[in-house]
Amino acid sequence: MLALELAASVRHDGHGGLLDTLADDAGVQAWLERAAPSVTEILGRSAVPSPAAAGPALVDLRVVVRNLFARAVRPAPPQRAEVAAPLDPDAALRRLNRTADYLGAPQLSWLDDATAPTTTWSPRGSDPVRLLTGAVARSAIDFLTGPDLVRLRACPAARCVRYFLQADPRQTWCSPTCGNRERVNRHYRRTNH
Ligand SMILES: [Zn+2]
Repeated sequence: MLALELAASVRHDGHGGLLDTLADDAGVQAWLERAAPSVTEILGRSAVPSPAAAGPALVDLRVVVRNLFARAVRPAPPQRAEVAAPLDPDAALRRLNRTADYLGAPQLSWLDDATAPTTTWSPRGSDPVRLLTGAVARSAIDFLTGPDLVRLRACPAARCVRYFLQADPRQTWCSPTCGNRERVNRHYRRTNH
């Protein structure tokens, strides 16, 4: 899911710091390539901006998405899950809605041989960066109002900043790596204090 992939583009670097995978053009390009099928699925066409142009727009939108995830997630995440400074909740909503608005109003379309109709968009322009961020913002709106929201979690492992969709009710950590690290940490704390 695009919005979740954008939120996950910043992560714990394994050494107590943060790794921003959108910090350079190569990282942005890799993200764009991974996201391309989902972007095309939402837009009904591809949007291929240059990494240099897309990078800052994606980082900007990531701040908005992570703030909205922090507001939505239950139980509430520890403050450290917020990589950027917290946004005013209304400002976050306005920025997300403005970004999604570039796609225009949803249109019902129905291909001749399809059994069901789909939603397409009538974008307000052809700027590839704004089409891309529009698709990500659209994905965030659909997710935040959809059935998967109840599975959104903030990983509670120390220094991890990842949001993830809980695959089953017993899943606590975003990944086995975080689970193992925390088990080791807890063992260390128990035996040393
Ligand atoms: Zn984690």
